Amino acid sequence: MDLRLYNTYSRQKEGFTPLRESEVRIYTCGPTVYDFAHIGNYRTFLFEDLLRRTLQLFGYRVVQVMNLTDVDDKIIHAALTRSVSLETITAPFIKAFFEDLGTLNVEPAEYYPRATEHIPQMLCLIGILLEKGCAYRLGGSVYFDISKFPPYGNLSRTKASQNRAFSRLESDEYEKEEITDFALWKERKEGEPFWESPFGPGRPGWHIECSAMAMHYLGETLDLHTGGIDNMFPHHENEIAQSEAATGQMFVRYWLHSSHLMVEGERMAKSKGNSYTLRDLLAKGFSSKAIRFLLTSAHYRTPLNFTFDGLVQAEKHVKRIQDFFHRLLEYQGNTENHPELPGILRRRENELLDSLADDLNISGAHSALFSLMRDINPWLLSGNLSLHDVRSVIGVLRSFDQVLGLLEEKGEADGWILALIEERNQARKRQDFSRSDQIRDELIQKGIVLEDTAQGTRWRKK
Ligand code: AMP
Ligand code: ZN
Repeated sequence: MDLRLYNTYSRQKEGFTPLRESEVRIYTCGPTVYDFAHIGNYRTFLFEDLLRRTLQLFGYRVVQVMNLTDVDDKIIHAALTRSVSLETITAPFIKAFFEDLGTLNVEPAEYYPRATEHIPQMLCLIGILLEKGCAYRLGGSVYFDISKFPPYGNLSRTKASQNRAFSRLESDEYEKEEITDFALWKERKEGEPFWESPFGPGRPGWHIECSAMAMHYLGETLDLHTGGIDNMFPHHENEIAQSEAATGQMFVRYWLHSSHLMVEGERMAKSKGNSYTLRDLLAKGFSSKAIRFLLTSAHYRTPLNFTFDGLVQAEKHVKRIQDFFHRLLEYQGNTENHPELPGILRRRENELLDSLADDLNISGAHSALFSLMRDINPWLLSGNLSLHDVRSVIGVLRSFDQVLGLLEEKGEADGWILALIEERNQARKRQDFSRSDQIRDELIQKGIVLEDTAQGTRWRKK
């Protein structure tokens, strides 16, 4: 089946084929680690997780690079304000970022390069741009000359006006109206961290960081490059200019951008004071799976409005999925194989694949899952399936979950929960209800809720 993805560069859905057979090389712009990432950031990282998992479902091996921006204007500002080193600012947030990725069940990328560990690669790239006459030195800084790169503006469909083309900006972030030459290397400023370089002491601009790290790990031409839509200009436009001017090769074959997580009509952003971190929501008692469900529930190219009602709904959807899964795992009946089951499973699997193949249509994928549950639940409740049938359904559900990532597997990590449940069962058998209540309370405190059913005790995370 053909996978079709919307390429922002062409503004069209295109059939996807990687440059190297069966291997897909993706660069994903990572977090700027000067604070906790907010759930808007995680919407983008979860879209990238969906992309990665879908590519794998379609049989590709994925090599993904996600950089950590651990030096830029914002981090330096934070370090100067608190009179501490860059590392003091970034280390706790890098740790928190990886914890959050685990909590949200994001599959790890193959590489997480840090900008501060790739300064030589950046200097090398800047050197090539100077040699080719696409960059110029001014004082101790180096700027990219956008007039030397005629395709400049093709990604964001914007062009510099004549009088703007000869001005330059030091800041990494600016609006389309300010389109201009931009800094590759910024001359050292009093009190700021710096690195020695052939152009004098200074530090890299944000855009050169991503070009250098992307090409270092993935080669001159990448299959896919992703980020939030706010990264398209100037960040990705500048990445194209730097990389292609240096190599003469196409930098990225497919550009994918996700739309924003919004709050009451405005983009969620730290600077707007309307953001929530993952930790804020977990502290309010929401489950990580419901947050994952909510943040992936709209198509990645449409804005998604964040509300607590939406999160409550997501919690209900996730509970239905978990209950269905646990019902399958605990199924006791054993009738003949159901004649209609194989056809139904094939149909729902095809629906899932067709939906994802169409530019990651997540609503279609979710509806394939919920239809599957509606098909199977009556038979499960009436005991009208064989154990072989149930194993087939579990297999299909797990294959859906390779992409959706919503199931709570009761694996070895949960052994301690099962051990306590077993101890509680023993206590109840000998009518030691004070001990059994004590165990229930202990589990509740650890976020585990028990439900006693006719089939035995079930547990779920709160
Ligand atoms: P930053 O840490 O600011 O570099 O952002 C990390 C990623 O999150 C980038 O790909 C941004 O485009 C993305 N991003 C920032 N704000 C939002 C938002 N409100 N919704 C979705 N993605 C966002
Ligand atoms: Zn980037």
